[in-house]
Amino acid sequence: MSETPQPLRARAEIDLGALRANVRALRARVAPHAQVMAVVKADAYGHGAVPCARAALEAGATWLGTATPHEALALRAAGIDAPLLCWLWTPGDPWRQGIEAGLDMSVSGRWALDEVIGAARESGGTARVQLKADTGLGRNGCPPADWPRLVGEALKAQADGLVRITGIWSHLACADEPGHPSIAAQLEAFQEMLGHAERAGAEPEVRHLANSPATLTLPETYFDLVRTGVAMYGISPSPEIGTPADFGLRPVMRLSGSVALVKRAPAGHGVSYGHHYVTSRDTTLALVPLGYADGVPRHASGRGPVLVGGRVRTVAGRVAMDQFVVDLEGDELEPGAEAVLFGPGDEGEPTAEDWARAADTIAYEIVTRVGSRVPRVYRNA
Ligand SMILES: *Cc1c(COP(=O)(O)O)cnc(C)c1O
Repeated sequence: MSETPQPLRARAEIDLGALRANVRALRARVAPHAQVMAVVKADAYGHGAVPCARAALEAGATWLGTATPHEALALRAAGIDAPLLCWLWTPGDPWRQGIEAGLDMSVSGRWALDEVIGAARESGGTARVQLKADTGLGRNGCPPADWPRLVGEALKAQADGLVRITGIWSHLACADEPGHPSIAAQLEAFQEMLGHAERAGAEPEVRHLANSPATLTLPETYFDLVRTGVAMYGISPSPEIGTPADFGLRPVMRLSGSVALVKRAPAGHGVSYGHHYVTSRDTTLALVPLGYADGVPRHASGRGPVLVGGRVRTVAGRVAMDQFVVDLEGDELEPGAEAVLFGPGDEGEPTAEDWARAADTIAYEIVTRVGSRVPRVYRNA
């Protein structure tokens, strides 16, 4: 595991011990009937796909999930051979490599079924296919009107030995809004579409619907498998349903930088592009070498919280591409001092949720956007 030498300009520390504990907590919640799929798409929400996938499997996750086939094939290339579903396919994607790598490949429509059948014919193998139903999300998935035909054609290809229907699944639109009427409607639609497929002869290994918010609040959605992403990284899907601690989860990522410069500035001094911040008195300014190229949202200019010099301060003026400034209000600080943007929160530092609030977004986006220029430093590997 990468032991990057200190000091560094900036770092995202990834606590794999916390990730394993989160997976165990999620498993305990859904056991004994359901398994846990660790969703490691988008480089494990910015945490690093390969180390996080390995840690999740060690802690008892039995499936992995990615969006694209390329993400899934990269895990196979790293030697990870666990059951692995990928669900976002585009025409021309590597179906044949997917068959050879033993991926579970999601199919939402006719074009995809045609391509996977063609690839199975060429390769001489059997494709593991999971049929995705659109039960109301209105995004990917096969709509109810087209479902009987898609299921029928998939069963025909199964009879020919070209595909095996390994899963039937769907995705919820509003699981993070407790009591939203779409939840019950989607559950009912899923049961109907699943029932149709099973009566027609499908014998899926796994049936699944739940994401993190459903795993935390809706046991009736568990079926055989829950697909947890954000909760595994110790982040609550929404402040409305609770804090991570309410669910026994601990944030996995801690993002910090080393202060690059501290200097005195007189009252009335403009700070950063556009001079949107002007010092109100003689003061000290600290330069933090992280910017929007590193995933610090520019939208949090003048608002993002940072723990530096023993206190939580606010980004002064605009976040630039590579750096931003905080007003130390006269405090002195040595260059190289640590500035913590977010972490678990138990040492007084802000959390990813605090940054989400400051940038009018969700914590998912805060961690996922941490840029490739920020080294990931793994703890408790
Ligand atoms: C991203 C994703 C998940 C995981 O969602 P979380 O809310 O992070 O748990 C599950 N299923 C699908 C289809 C997804 O795209």
